[in-house]
This record gives sequence, C-alpha cells and structure tokens, in this order.
Amino acid sequence: MRTQRQVVDYSLQKRAVLRELLAGRVGTYDVCDASPYLKNAARFHGEPTDQRCPICRSENLIHVHYIYGDELKQSAGQARTRAELPVLAMTLREFQVFVVEVCPGCDWNHLVEQFLLGRDGLAGGTEDAAEQETASGATPRRRREAQR
Ligand SMILES: [Zn+2]
Repeated sequence: MRTQRQVVDYSLQKRAVLRELLAGRVGTYDVCDASPYLKNAARFHGEPTDQRCPICRSENLIHVHYIYGDELKQSAGQARTRAELPVLAMTLREFQVFVVEVCPGCDWNHLVEQFLLGRDGLAGGTEDAAEQETASGATPRRRREAQR
C-alpha cells in the first residue's frame, strides 16, 4: 500500500513461540487461544492466505487487520478487510494497522506485523522519498524497540 510506513515485523517473535512449543516449554493451549471475537473477525473481515497453519497443518491461515488511531473514533480497534485499508488511507491522516494471523481449525493466533497508513505518508515529498525512509532509518529502530 502506497502510504505504508514504520513497518514492524513480528516473524522473529513468532519463530520464538514455535521453538518454545517444539521444546515443550509452552503447550498448544497457551498459543491456540483465539477469542470468539478474533474468530468472528477472521470469518467476516479476514484475508485468506495460502500459508498452512504451523500448528495443526490442516487449515490455511487467515489474516485479520485491526485498525487503531484517534481519527477513527468509535471504529478504533475494529477489524477491516484488506480492500478497505487503501480507502481509509486516503481519507485519514494516520492510523495504525495490526495484522494478526488466525487458524480457523486449531485457534492458533499470532501478531504478524504492524504499520502506519494514511495521507501523512504522502506529505512532504514524493512517494519514493517516503519509501526510502521506511527502508533505511525507521524500520530497524522500530524493530529493536519491539523486541525489548
Ligand atoms: Zn491450526
């Protein structure tokens, strides 16, 4: 998406959880705990993927996009389909998106990534400048913060 910036990738954290599970230090009950709300969000607003669930390996994961930000008012914290995000990004200045993967079979769920969207990403220069900023300075710093 054009205004996407400050991307934080949680794949390292996910691999750590899977390692813990494999080593028997956590049980599947601890990680396969999707709430009824999350499962509903996945059913009605989710984006199907072709990735197999790393736990049960019988279902494909669904990505749910949650949106947060002051401008959203009462919509903050709601799930949106992926198709709705570019539209919101052109009407709002800035909002946060959290992507959560969910397995409809075994209830595995984990944060995939978070990022900012919104018109502020277009301000003060060309699209290329905004993308370079994300690629160089912003992302590694944010990643380190997320891992603490
Ligand atoms: Zn599963």
